[in-house]
Amino acid sequence: MRPAFLGQAPKQLFIDGKWVQPASGETFETVNPSNGQVIARIAAGGTQDINDAVAAARRAFEGSWSRFTPYERQGVILKLAELIDRDFDELSLLDSMDMGAPLSRLRGPGRKRALGRLRFYAGLATTIIGHTIENSASREMLTYTVREPIGVIGAIIPWNAPLTSALWKIGPALAAGCTVVLKPAEQASLSCLRLAELCMEAGIPAGVVNVVTGLGESAGAALTQHLDVDKIAFTGSHLVGQKIIQASVGNLKRVTLELGGKSPDIVFADADLDKAVPGAAMGVFGNTGQVCCAGTRLFVERSIYDEFIERVANFGNSLVVGDGLDPKTQIGPVVSQEQLDRVLSYIQIGLDEGATTIAGGARLTEEGLSSGYFLPPTIFGNVRDDMRVAREEIFGPVVCAIPFDTIDEVERRANATQFGLGSGVWTRDVTKVHRLAKTIKAGSVWVNCYNVMDPAVPFGGYKLSGYGREGGVEHVDEYLNTKSVWVNYA
Ligand code: NAP
Ligand code: MG
Repeated sequence: MRPAFLGQAPKQLFIDGKWVQPASGETFETVNPSNGQVIARIAAGGTQDINDAVAAARRAFEGSWSRFTPYERQGVILKLAELIDRDFDELSLLDSMDMGAPLSRLRGPGRKRALGRLRFYAGLATTIIGHTIENSASREMLTYTVREPIGVIGAIIPWNAPLTSALWKIGPALAAGCTVVLKPAEQASLSCLRLAELCMEAGIPAGVVNVVTGLGESAGAALTQHLDVDKIAFTGSHLVGQKIIQASVGNLKRVTLELGGKSPDIVFADADLDKAVPGAAMGVFGNTGQVCCAGTRLFVERSIYDEFIERVANFGNSLVVGDGLDPKTQIGPVVSQEQLDRVLSYIQIGLDEGATTIAGGARLTEEGLSSGYFLPPTIFGNVRDDMRVAREEIFGPVVCAIPFDTIDEVERRANATQFGLGSGVWTRDVTKVHRLAKTIKAGSVWVNCYNVMDPAVPFGGYKLSGYGREGGVEHVDEYLNTKSVWVNYA
């Protein structure tokens, strides 16, 4: 199974509607984490390529794209969704090979999510509304607001959901009338490159969507520093998010940040445990734990702690870990050797700090898995809140299981984190639901479910998990400026 696209030109950059060689002529490898084999060489874009892409995006913003009405923008976004649907087998194969996610998962729920999202954004193109304002001081002054696209967007994304992350940036930008320079993650650029071609086929003019692959320190940094980029829409770690804010000062470009988390998932003794066990387990082990809002601190009421954690461990152990392309696989590899080393080093840190492994804890090297980067679902017990494994984002299939006694206690401990992205509450008690829904400091609170997404519902962070919201009708606002117009007709 080798996608036709890989026979063409994945090693080039997509700028102004054309495949171009990177100015440096340099490339780097992208590896299939299920088997450690090189899939393709990818162009290493740098400052010159970013300059070219931003110039193309600016020309398109002021030229061809500015002449599209909202209705016409909606039309091409819907056409893009149709083409993604047509080619979803290829796009999902590229993502699965590139970053290891199970193909079955990408083609099932992943497909619905991607297409639903893009069609929702298409709808937003025709919902851009200004206001007429009754002037406070004058009866002969007409005041109204218009909403205008911000301009050229630099979109920088991670590798854990490449196509989806790209659509979460490109979709609202196109709906608003902006143009985009996308820098995919170095580990997983392939589907983004194919997406660029589909944008052209959908009738989106050249220069509206440009894709510059390359490394964060070069291509990414050049994009964030560029004085003609109006906004950076970033998804990734808080450490890079902090660098992006610093790099943005030259032209005070707008920045939105979708960052990491250390999300609490709280299970009370009165919960429907038959639902809570798989919900909490997949809430942290799904996508091999490489999910920003993964429920990595699993707080369980002490009276059911032993039974519940045993059931989560049994559930985790029953999951089929394997090659993303194998239809039986439920949990793929982690994305790279580097990520494997990082997660293993966190497991060692946890053990050194006095935590114990209830499940998993070591690399899987049995038949068929030895050349890939496979880890089993791993559960830490004996965790103290001050341990690094309880405070820092690991971004692998590792959960800290923590008993608690009272709602006051769990409320305090759930919020004792520098992050605030996701959170979960499992209970049948409506008073607990509403109390925690109010007091948990996080962008999403899932009650009797976990990591459920809907394009119409905003998603984003508190605290070190970032700012700005993706999803919801307000998502398009992140790509718009407000202009006030004063007409004195006295
Ligand atoms: P990362 O290291 O922060 O990288 C994210 C992106 O930023 C990559 O494209 C990276 O390029 C680029 N980058 C690195 N240094 C840069 C710099 N100095 N200037 C500009 N760009 C730079 O994150 P990751 O390891 O790819 O992904 C995992 C992180 O993403 C986790 O923290 C996770 O929680 C977060 N995440 C958040 C969400 C959300 O919606 N909140 C969703 C998914 C993931 P390279 O590829 O070359 O490193
Ligand atoms: Mg790869």
